[in-house]
Amino acid sequence: NKFSSQQDTIFALSTAQGKAGIAIIRVSGSKTSEATTNRLIIHPVTGEMLDHGLVLWFPGPNSYTGEDVAEFHIHGGISIISGVLAALGSIEGFRHAERGEFTRRAFDNDKLDLTEIEGLADLLNAETEVQRRQALRQAQGSLKNLYETWKKQLIENTALIEAVIDFSEDENIEDGIFEQVVARIKQILSMMIDHVNDGRRGEILRDGIHVTLFGPPNVGKSSFLNCLAQRQAVIVSPIPGTTRDVIEISLNIGGYPVIIGDTAGLRQSDDIVEIEGIKRAKDRMLSADIKICILSSVEVLKSLSSNNENSRGIINPLINESMDKSTFLVLNKSDLLSASDLSHLLYMFFYLNYKSAYYVRYDNSASQVALITQSRHRENLINCIHGLQNFLAQKDIVLAAEELRYATNALGRITGRIEVDEILDVIFERFCIGK
Ligand code: GDP
Ligand code: ZN
Repeated sequence: NKFSSQQDTIFALSTAQGKAGIAIIRVSGSKTSEATTNRLIIHPVTGEMLDHGLVLWFPGPNSYTGEDVAEFHIHGGISIISGVLAALGSIEGFRHAERGEFTRRAFDNDKLDLTEIEGLADLLNAETEVQRRQALRQAQGSLKNLYETWKKQLIENTALIEAVIDFSEDENIEDGIFEQVVARIKQILSMMIDHVNDGRRGEILRDGIHVTLFGPPNVGKSSFLNCLAQRQAVIVSPIPGTTRDVIEISLNIGGYPVIIGDTAGLRQSDDIVEIEGIKRAKDRMLSADIKICILSSVEVLKSLSSNNENSRGIINPLINESMDKSTFLVLNKSDLLSASDLSHLLYMFFYLNYKSAYYVRYDNSASQVALITQSRHRENLINCIHGLQNFLAQKDIVLAAEELRYATNALGRITGRIEVDEILDVIFERFCIGK
């Protein structure tokens, strides 16, 4: 354990540093009651009155940390805060908490599992409504409940397999049990595979949806971004090659965190800086969740109308090779075309059957299910799935049991609860009575 002592009673300012109406100082540990019975707002040694305020008392084990916890709600003046902190520090066995120590104690005392703690951290960092909702659900145990349920089922089935191994001479126990276990594992496996195949919705929401704008120079990419941002975030100029680096802007669109990147226009270039800009644009496209290709209606009409086979793709090869089915197409500068040219253009697009209607949909019903929010969860789930698949493929029952144990441990790593003894407990509870 990285913390100096688990025995100490710890305290810290829980509200932000600086002057405010109210400050909250939190205390946790076996000696917390000393701070409250000493009526700490009066200095325990000098007897001086430091402030008048409110003391909230949360007796363990039903507190945040599982220990006795008190909160001092005092006035938020800087000298009051430092006076109360100094007074707490003067009590024997009290010390300032280290970063995350309250939560670490909550984890050690089984109050929170790792997914709930991660949810709590995400909640504090949530910038949009949808992020907040997802984080809150996770902090309240949505992922924990799912993984703990699966883990419990895996443990029970491991116990059954162990029983088959240990008591194989006993005919009563072997009858059909292995087949039952296989059927249940198949069920759990299919639920897990569904859970993992979620299109990374939870992770994308947590990190923000990355949108990349790309296209040839001077088609209006930067103007488009400014329009979305509703401010002059990016320099717009009639000189092609103005945007050199990837410029990112975070937006809150309908509660969804969206990070839009404007990139250098794609074209053949000899300019070293521009070539680097184009390289960065292409890198950014690889990691984008959504790509938007912006083209000039005027240029597209020109190239589609020409009989030159080479330009019949779209504009230039750099653009063509960056288009895929997750790319939206925006035909900009339509104001420069006459109404009839515009309808001609749209008709040609329709005729060419240009696939541009792919879109990602984040619907609310789906966001009610517990979603994976971190790659750490995903890696362990995939390990668990492999374990279950190996179990199903394994002919030797002893080795099969080993695979189940491996799968259970992978799940336990997500919640931070890996207890080998759990399996033994189940076995002894169920099968060893009277034996
Ligand atoms: P980028 O190089 O693709 O980022 O293009 P910019 O946003 O810098 O715009 C290039 C030029 O096109 C600027 O002079 C803009 O004012 C102009 N422009 C952008 N969008 C439109 C549009 O929809 N219609 C017209 N007529 N001009 C536009
Ligand atoms: Zn630009």
